[in-house]
Amino acid sequence: MGSGQVTDWQGRHVTVAGLGVSGIPAAKVLHARGASVTVVNDGDDARAREQAAELQALGITVRLGDGATLPEGTELVVTTPGWKPDKPLFAAARQAGLEIWGDVELAWRLRGPDAAPWLAVTGTNGKTTTVRMLASILKAAGLRTAAVGNIGVSLLDVVLGEEQYDVLAVELSSYQLHWAPSLRAHSAAVLNLAPDHLDWHGSMEAYAADKGRVYEGNRVACVYNVADKATEDLVREADVEEGCRAIGFTLGTPGPSQLGVVDGILVDRAFVENRQQNAQELAEVSDVNPPAPHNIANALAAAALARAFGVPAAAVRDGLRDFTPDAHRIAHVADVDGVAYVDDSKATNTHAAEASLAAYESIVWMAGGLAKGATFDELVAKSAKRLRGVVLFGRDRALIREALARHAPEVPVVDLDRTDTGAMLAAVQEARRLASAGDTVLLAPACASMDMFANYNKRGDAFAEAVRELGS
Ligand code: ADP
Repeated sequence: MGSGQVTDWQGRHVTVAGLGVSGIPAAKVLHARGASVTVVNDGDDARAREQAAELQALGITVRLGDGATLPEGTELVVTTPGWKPDKPLFAAARQAGLEIWGDVELAWRLRGPDAAPWLAVTGTNGKTTTVRMLASILKAAGLRTAAVGNIGVSLLDVVLGEEQYDVLAVELSSYQLHWAPSLRAHSAAVLNLAPDHLDWHGSMEAYAADKGRVYEGNRVACVYNVADKATEDLVREADVEEGCRAIGFTLGTPGPSQLGVVDGILVDRAFVENRQQNAQELAEVSDVNPPAPHNIANALAAAALARAFGVPAAAVRDGLRDFTPDAHRIAHVADVDGVAYVDDSKATNTHAAEASLAAYESIVWMAGGLAKGATFDELVAKSAKRLRGVVLFGRDRALIREALARHAPEVPVVDLDRTDTGAMLAAVQEARRLASAGDTVLLAPACASMDMFANYNKRGDAFAEAVRELGS
């Protein structure tokens, strides 16, 4: 099908893999364009049947209870991004020489001829924050834009919708990138690379390679993290348009073609005249909310993409000032008896928790949950000197306790052997006991939440509620 926009769908046999948030709209759109669509789905429960009935009423074929076999005559597979690449359906498709598109690829191929360019962001942590900062900066520059993609706003809806945009701030997950072979962003950033989702990708190399796809065909800038060499390596490996530049961001003094920090000021030495001598002041560190080191890195990455798009320096400052972080990302809940209580429930892996712990000097750390195969030695060793105490909860807490015994044996640890709904209040009370005035009680679990809570939002809410009870 080449790699360009596809306009003629009449009679094409498309198999959509997976009912659900991306599968159903994909099936509907392709059907409406004249394609002959078959949806295949592993599950066959009541909900799937309901969804199937709705699609069948439109004339779409649905096969429930068998997501493994490729329907006869398939010319293209459009998959739910979360489906693992080692499924037999994909092996059959590849064997038949067929293309496999994810939701992002489909949106890319269906966008109109005058569609807005994409500024893309990926990385292990910080994507949502960076994309929101970027959208805020672009808005401050008077551009029509939106934060879209993995952030929870369907790209398909956006590219097919009525609203006109000048540019889009696009968050992409490694899964989405895996299935987006022809995507070509205006500019893109990989924020950082740490092991995550390796069960899906098969190896760290495969995970990194999928993240690196975001740079393929970039026109203006490939933005990388100077402190994370793996991101720079991905830029080097990418095939980009002639004239596209590699732009680094750093928390230190920037070299030429970098953005960085000098004396509390965010500065640009990339998108300025005569960058050997000149630098452009963009904003103050205090304009970044919250001004934690990892978040300043996010702000610099967002600024780099905005500057690559030609945004003036003042809009970077205004956009950062206007930005408020999403809930449960280093959210200051309250001060009680001189102790700050901070909710970073979104720190669901060790890399995120490490960034969070690096943002405070004297911490009572609340951690635990589902480890997803992670190890905690590096995290604990790097953070040990900041820990005044630790409260552990959740199913895999023993892994953290053992790492603490190895690398921080003198730090007091409360190991809470409870997973009931009242456990968070008990955990916060223990944290209060361990904390002194000037300390920060930090919920940065380094684990997923599903052993005790529906999701990380609920975990953060329970923490905030418990803190409020302390204060009352
Ligand atoms: P994502 O969309 O990639 O999951 P978020 O912006 O939602 O990222 O942030 C998730 C968590 O990751 C935050 O709560 C914070 O703990 C951590 N984090 C944010 N930015 C960074 C960064 N640049 N480096 C490391 N950790 C980060």
